[in-house]
Amino acid sequence: MNKRRVCGWLSLFQMPPQSLYIAKYNLLLWVLALHIPASLREMNKQQDIIDVTVIGAGPGGLFAVMEIVEKVEKDIKLLVIDKGKPPSIRKCNALIDGCVGCKICELISGGGGAGLFSDGKLVFDIYSGGHLEEIIPPNKKKEIERRIKETIETFAPKYLYKNPSLPENLSNCFRKQHLKFKPYPVIHIGSNSLRFFSQQLISYLQKRNVKFLFNTEVKEFQYDASSSKWIIKIVSKGKNQIIESKYLVGSVGKEGNFWFTTLIEKIGGNIEDNNTYMGVRIEINNSTAEKLYKISFDPKFYFENSGIKIKTHCFCRHGQILLLKYFDLPLAGGHTPYLEIDEQYVPEKFPNSNFAILYRDKTICTKEKALEVMRKINKITGGKLLVQRLGDYIKNVPTTHKKLSNNTIKHSASDIVPGQILDDYLPGFREIFISFLERMDSCIPGMLNPDNLLYFPAIEWWMRKVKVNNKMEVINLPNLYAVGDGSGWTQGVVQAAATGIIAGNDIASKLDNRGDVL
Ligand SMILES: Cc1cc2nc3c(=O)[nH]c(=O)nc-3n(C[C@H](O)[C@H](O)[C@H](O)COP(=O)(O)OP(=O)(O)OC[C@H]3O[C@@H](n4cnc5c(N)ncnc54)[C@H](O)[C@@H]3O)c2cc1C
Repeated sequence: MNKRRVCGWLSLFQMPPQSLYIAKYNLLLWVLALHIPASLREMNKQQDIIDVTVIGAGPGGLFAVMEIVEKVEKDIKLLVIDKGKPPSIRKCNALIDGCVGCKICELISGGGGAGLFSDGKLVFDIYSGGHLEEIIPPNKKKEIERRIKETIETFAPKYLYKNPSLPENLSNCFRKQHLKFKPYPVIHIGSNSLRFFSQQLISYLQKRNVKFLFNTEVKEFQYDASSSKWIIKIVSKGKNQIIESKYLVGSVGKEGNFWFTTLIEKIGGNIEDNNTYMGVRIEINNSTAEKLYKISFDPKFYFENSGIKIKTHCFCRHGQILLLKYFDLPLAGGHTPYLEIDEQYVPEKFPNSNFAILYRDKTICTKEKALEVMRKINKITGGKLLVQRLGDYIKNVPTTHKKLSNNTIKHSASDIVPGQILDDYLPGFREIFISFLERMDSCIPGMLNPDNLLYFPAIEWWMRKVKVNNKMEVINLPNLYAVGDGSGWTQGVVQAAATGIIAGNDIASKLDNRGDVL
């Protein structure tokens, strides 16, 4: 790593930080500030202006900062704000015996970002899923992937790397079944190394004089054209404060997407919807899962018919199904608290594996439908996930507590309610889903096991997409960058990191008054 500095202001942090660049203004002053920028500028005359403020200490934000730190030649002030806790002290009860509804969800918020408790399966093809080919040209793709890998190697040196391989007999079978396979290499960091990686990266950035404010929420931001600065309102320990920054990077994750995009629209940016995917997470026994795992750490199969697409997503070997909460509504997710590299790290082994099966029908799968379904299930289950045996789903009968306790595949999630996934939750899903499973089962027997468990709802790409240029800078809003999942452009650590690098590189080139060097 380049050890050149973004120096000079570490000493400033030995003084009370608030007296330096965080002005302690109350809410009234914030309102005034937005309307009287000149008076705000006056008030801030003695304040140190921050060069770059990043909202969110997940992969998107951290890689943006890393890029700036490594590239910029002169002394600058960099600030990262996250409403969650630092990675070292994040704890989530949902992983042990159920969600306790923390005000700031520790599963998805805080240093390291949303996937801190995952096993870190990192997809090393940033064109896979999402829309990054519209932003990042092929000649830059390789260099960006190389840099992300290099950072991982520096801060989490122990990992597995696997190229996918589909044996010829399976390849023939899939062809016959009209199933398509998307190959991409995967780096597998492992749960414990992931927390270590995030801590190490943050410590490194702190040593390079990047200031981190955890437990601090950004409430609002507004551009002051006369001073060419972003005026940012933050809340920490119940106190409203205002900071000013030349550049602002929003890396707010899925969880912050609606807040971020609503604000961007309000101040003149443009937003559009994504193509949402909806479906279930399926839990299967490990003898079936092993056949998939041999193909890839994250096997991706899909099938398309008359414009409707169905696919597998996010394979968790020896995994646990998790209740994720976005806007206090339930969603099924998964992770693997299991590390393949080194047995001594294994905290617990789960006997089953899981992954999502999601369909996209543009006429049905919309953000509005996704929210409607999440609200319905929330009402029925009291905020938990709905679970149904596959055999019961096929027969269209509910799963009861008794059936669930007699099931050969034991549920790995605690926050569940057995019941029935009704067809009107997902119109058209039944037909394509069963057909997909039949096709898969004829090549990988076990996919149609009636004891497989379906967890509902599983939804992806519900985030709204910010209109940005090819530097991830928001159209119409100068020096504001939208990166990572919260921008609606990515889903996954490597993609989020890639957009962080793109934005970081552009900011660095502006700060140093030079051209694009990526
Ligand atoms: C259970 C689980 C398992 C996963 N497993 C994998 C995996 O194996 N591989 C993979 O590639 N991806 C995985 N993911 C997805 C991955 O974690 C995300 O794609 C990635 O973290 C996105 O990075 P990001 O920086 O865009 O956002 P995030 O990581 O979501 O970080 C956003 C941060 O912004 C903060 N924030 C939001 N709003 C505000 C605000 N107003 N003020 C201050 N702070 C704010 C949040 O607290 C959060 O820490 C998983 C996700 C989950 C939930």
